[in-house]
Amino acid sequence: MTLPGSGQAQLDRRRSAFDLDPGTASYSKHPMAQAQLSIDLAAIRANWRALADFSTGEAAAVVKANGYGLGIGRVGPALAAEGARRFFVAMTDEGVTLRRVLGPGPEINILGGHMAGDADQIRDADLTPMLNSIDQMLRHVEALPGHPFGVQLDSGMNRLGMEPAEWAALRDIALAQSPRLLMSHLACADEPDHGMNAFQLRTFREMTDGTGVPRSLAATGGILLGPDYHFELTRPGIGMYGGMPFADALPVATLALPVIQTRDVSPGEAVGYGNAWVARVPTRVATISAGYADGIHRALAAKGYLWAGNSRCKILGRVSMDLITVDVTALEQVPDALHLLGPKQGVDAVADAIGTIGYEVLTGLGSRYARTYTGA
Ligand SMILES: *Cc1c(COP(=O)(O)O)cnc(C)c1O
Repeated sequence: MTLPGSGQAQLDRRRSAFDLDPGTASYSKHPMAQAQLSIDLAAIRANWRALADFSTGEAAAVVKANGYGLGIGRVGPALAAEGARRFFVAMTDEGVTLRRVLGPGPEINILGGHMAGDADQIRDADLTPMLNSIDQMLRHVEALPGHPFGVQLDSGMNRLGMEPAEWAALRDIALAQSPRLLMSHLACADEPDHGMNAFQLRTFREMTDGTGVPRSLAATGGILLGPDYHFELTRPGIGMYGGMPFADALPVATLALPVIQTRDVSPGEAVGYGNAWVARVPTRVATISAGYADGIHRALAAKGYLWAGNSRCKILGRVSMDLITVDVTALEQVPDALHLLGPKQGVDAVADAIGTIGYEVLTGLGSRYARTYTGA
C-alpha cells in the first residue's frame, strides 16, 4: 500500500533505518535472535543413572510426551547410550516414533495399552502394550496372538488399569499368556508420609504375589520411597529431566529469551495490555521476545521473574502471546537475553510461581524455541 504524500517517504526512511525489506515489511533481513532452549543430555543421563543405581532392580526410562517436552529424538538415544533398555511412552504413536529413533532391541512399553486400531503399529514397531482392561486383553490376544504384553493394575488410584475384581476374574487366563510385566502406579508418591503409599503397596502385593512375573510400581517418587517399592523394574520420568520430587537432580533445561527493545517509562505511565502495571518511579522496561504461545503461562505475570545473571527482573504487567515486559532498572547493562530457566531458577521455581508442577512447565515448552543439545 502506498501512503499519501510525505507518509510514504517517511515509511521508506524508517524501512531503511531498520533495514526492512520493502516487500515484507515486518521481517528484518537480519533475523532477530531467537529464544534459545538448551537441553543438557549429560545431565539427563546422570539423573537416570542416579535413579537407576538407587533402584534395587532394573530402571526403565519414561519418555512420554516427547520426552517431557525436551525432544524424544535426542533424549531417547542419550538414555539408551547410558544403558536404559526399557522405555515407557503413553501412546502407540509415541512408541512408533521412539522405535524409529532407537531401532530394534530396546523394549518399548505403551502405558495406554492396546487401543482399537493400533494392532498393525504395535506389531510392526514391536511395541509392548500394558493392557488396562478385559476389553484390551481380548483385543490384544485376538489381533496379535503371542505378541508380548504387560498388564497394568489399579491399586487404588482409580485412573488406569484393571481393578482387583476384574484382575481376579482374568488373572489365570492372563498369566497363561505369559505377560512381560505387571505394573501399577502410585497416586501420592511425592508425599512420603501419605498413608496411600503403604495402602497401594499392600494392594499391589496382594494382586501380584506368587505370579512369578516381573513387577513395577515406582515412578520417580516411588523410587525415593525406598526399596520396598522398587520390585524388578522402576519407571523414572520427571527426576531424569531435573524435576521434583528428585531434589538432587541436576538441572537439565536452560531457557534464554532475547531482549527486543528497552525503554524508560516515567511515573504514571502504564505498560502492556489493560494498563495492568503503572510505574510509580522512573523504570527501565525491557521487552522480551516470548510469551504464552511459547508456554510461558499468563499466570506468571503476578509473581514471575526473569534473570540476568544473578539479578532478578520482575515481570511487569501482563504476559502477551509473544512478548513479556520486565523491569531492568537495576541492571547496569541490559544483556541480549534474560533467563526464564537457568542456574537461579529451575522448572519447579517457575511451576511454584504459577501454582503448578514442573511436569507441566516442561511439557508446555513451546515449539518456537531454537533447541540446542549439549553433553551428547
Ligand atoms: C508418567 C508416568 C511415570 C513417570 O512418572 P514420574 O513421576 O515422571 O517419574 C511412570 N509410570 C506411569 C504409569 C506414568 O504415567
